Formats: sequence, structure tokens, C-alpha cells
Amino acid sequence: MPTDTIVALATPPGIGAIGVIRLSGPQAIQIVDAVFYGKKLDKQASHTIHFGTIRDEQDHILDEVLASLFVEPRSYTGENVVEISCHGSNYIIQELIRLFIRKGARLAQPGEFTLRAFLNGQMDLSQAEAVADLIASSSEAAQQVAIKQLRGGISSEIKKLRQELIDFASLIELELDFGEEDVEFANRDQLRDLVEKLIRLMHKLLDSFQLGNAIKEGVNTVIAGRPNAGKSTLLNALLNEERAIVSEIAGTTRDTIEESLNIQGIQFRIIDTAGIREASDTIEAIGIQKTLEKVRQSAVLLYIFDVIKTQPAQLEADLAQLLHPNTQLLVVANKMDLNPYTEYQHYANPHFSAEQWIPISAANEMNIEYLKERLYQTVVSNEVSMDAAIVSNVRHYEALQKAKESLEAVIQGLSSAVTTDFIAMDIRHSLAYLGEITGEISTEDLLDNIFSRFCIGK
Ligand code: GDP
Repeated sequence: MPTDTIVALATPPGIGAIGVIRLSGPQAIQIVDAVFYGKKLDKQASHTIHFGTIRDEQDHILDEVLASLFVEPRSYTGENVVEISCHGSNYIIQELIRLFIRKGARLAQPGEFTLRAFLNGQMDLSQAEAVADLIASSSEAAQQVAIKQLRGGISSEIKKLRQELIDFASLIELELDFGEEDVEFANRDQLRDLVEKLIRLMHKLLDSFQLGNAIKEGVNTVIAGRPNAGKSTLLNALLNEERAIVSEIAGTTRDTIEESLNIQGIQFRIIDTAGIREASDTIEAIGIQKTLEKVRQSAVLLYIFDVIKTQPAQLEADLAQLLHPNTQLLVVANKMDLNPYTEYQHYANPHFSAEQWIPISAANEMNIEYLKERLYQTVVSNEVSMDAAIVSNVRHYEALQKAKESLEAVIQGLSSAVTTDFIAMDIRHSLAYLGEITGEISTEDLLDNIFSRFCIGK
């Protein structure tokens, strides 16, 4: 348990109406009392606020402040915490922090307040990670997933899985204790049923990661098509703003443009690319290379073509060149205003089905809402509910994956009648991976890795 007291600015650096400096640790109250002129804080009740001045060693008043008092263990970190709300001047903030350091505090590391909250059992590891996600959330869906995780959504699912497994593991371990004797405390059929059930539950959580990751990180979406297909016009229609430059000259959109589009709370990062064309000059060739690279890095490809100028064979050839197994395809038939009778059948080829066909007129903003709906459905499938526990953290996803693999090894072991110690070992592995998610099992490296990415003051 930490014995020192840490201090940091909790609000963003820069000039503001107020700045909040936070101290946490056994000496937090005494350190503030040494320089705070108002009521003696160590005589006050927890969760109270006090007005006073802070003075330096020469008795100069540095600022008039409010001190909020949280007495351990009823605080964010579980330690004594004082939060000083001062005037938001860089000079005042610096001087106050320096003064607290001279009085015995130490500057906090990134994430150190939350690390202490974890070490003091105020929250588990996945909840601590949710704090960082909450701070970083920039859309409603991201905020919702983070707040659910902070309030223990994922933790409780994982703990349930782990507890069921622990109960059985103890029976298996008991068998091992009896060594040579031929005893069987753990019924093998029941064990198999349980493990299969757990694998199914893990599958469900793992499946939610596509959505969780999309919500947290946004969805890379690339718009590609031949020059003059209408890429820039489509981008403008989606964003409803004149951002990209629309031009009559083929191949003018050479560089890629990235824009952000929010559909029902999910952020799509849309990349407009240079046109695909048989490379006649080197700059176009780079354009094609870039497009292919962007498609590889994207979750969704919006392939757009001009229904007046494009032959079915050209469409098929472009798709053959562009498609990537990890990228979902939507085929956008543009300029329908010029030929309203264009039908899917005319352009059908093995690379896409009728559901992926989206007829629009970008210039007239016709059917753009339908396109947005289809984009949304590429990530929010009907099987995964926004209300269920959603895994959004890569670390959790990987640990769950490994926990599931260990359980699959248990099933294999049961089928091939391996000895009990092998089964026990696989169960132990699975328990360890699950424990890593909530932090029941953690190493210093793991904690360093997680908390070093927090901001200072959190
Ligand atoms: P890009 O090269 O793929 O980015 O294509 P642009 O967005 O620059 O569009 C090329 C030309 O097609 C421009 O003159 C647009 O006004 C025109 N255009 C784009 N969408 C439509 C549409 O839906 N209908 C019609 N009639 N013209 C369009």
C-alpha cells in the first residue's frame, strides 16, 4: 500500500475559470492544513467544502480557494483526498503544486490516482480501464459502453464465469490431492456441460467485440471508385457540408481526405480516395496503391460507380481488384437521377448480393439516409444488442480468447481421456486469463502498461 502523498492538476492545463488540484495519500490533509488558512481540515467531517486562503512560507497569499475534503476510505482512491479549487491561472496552479511538494507531496504519475483506487479495492481493473475510456469517449455510444463497464457490467459477467469454474476446479484439485487413489469427485459429464456452457457465454462476449471496438475506436470506412464516379459529392452529401472539392476534371481528388460521420452514436471515419484507373502516369498509380492500402485498413468499403458510364464488366473488375476478406462491401450505384431504371440485375456479379446494392443520387442527396442505415447495420447486427454486456477493450478480448482456448483444451482432454492433472492445468490457465481481466491476477508490468496511458491527474 502506498505510504506517500501524490499531487496533480486534475483539470486541463491552461487558463480557465477554476483549476482543481488533487492530493491523495495518508498526509494529504496535513499537507494542505500547513498552508491553508481557514478551518483546520483535519477537524472537519468527510465530504465537506471549506473556503480559505493558501499562503506560502513568507505568508504571501497565493489564492483564495475552496478545499473539498474526502476522508479515507470514502474517496475515489480510498485514501485521504483533498481537492483544491483555485483560480485557473497557470501561475497560481504551478505555485500551489510547488508549495504542496515542498510540504511533502510528490507529483503524481499518469493514472496514479486510479491505480491507487484499484490497489485499495475501490474498483477492479476493468472498471479502472473504463475510467480512461469514459474520459476519452466522444460519442453517446462510447460513453454508454464506458459507463456500463465502469459500473461493473463486464466485471460481473467475468466474475460469474470465473466463480462457476472455480467451484468445479476445486473438486478436480481435490482429486489430484488424493494422488494414486482412484477417486472421482468431479463428475466428468457435469464438467463437460459446464465447460461447454462457459464456452458459449464466452463466444457471446467475444462476438460483442466487433461492435464494442467499433463504438470505441470508430469504424474506418473507405469510399473508392473511378474518377468522376461521385466520391467527393457523396462525401459532401454524407457530411452535408462542402468539405471535399468537387471537380469536373477526372482524377483531381488525388490525396485522401478523412472526415468523421456520426450515425446513431457510432463514429464512422470516412476516407475519400483518389480514383481507380488503369495507371497511365505514376501519380495515378500511387493513387491506386493508396486506395488498396486504405481498403485493407478499413472495416467497410463503399464502392461507388456512375450508372451512366460504367459497364458491368468494369464494375466486376474493380471489385475483384479492391475486395478484401476483412472489409465489408457496399456497392453504391450513383447518378440514378440520370438513369432511374438501372437495376441490380444488370450489374449483378459474384462479388456482391442484392442486399449490398444501394442506388443513390449523390448530387440530389437521394437515398442518403438509406445508405447511412446500411452503414450502421454493418456494425450493429441484430444478434448483438446495445443493452447487453459489450467487450470494447482489446486486452479483455485477448484474455477472453485465451480463456476460451484453454476451456476448449479441457473439452479435448475430456474426449481423449487424458489424466486429471492435464485437465486441471487447462482449467487453471483459463481461470488465470479470466482473472487478468478484472485484475484478481495482475503483474506490475500489466498495471504499468494500463495506467501509463492515463492522463496525469486521473
Ligand atoms: P469523384 O471524382 O469521384 O470525386 O467525383 P465528383 O464527386 O467530383 O463528381 C464528378 C461529377 O459528377 C461532378 O460534376 C458531380 O457534380 C457529378 N455528380 C456526382 N453525383 C452525381 C449525381 O448523383 N447525379 C448527377 N447527375 N451528377 C453527379
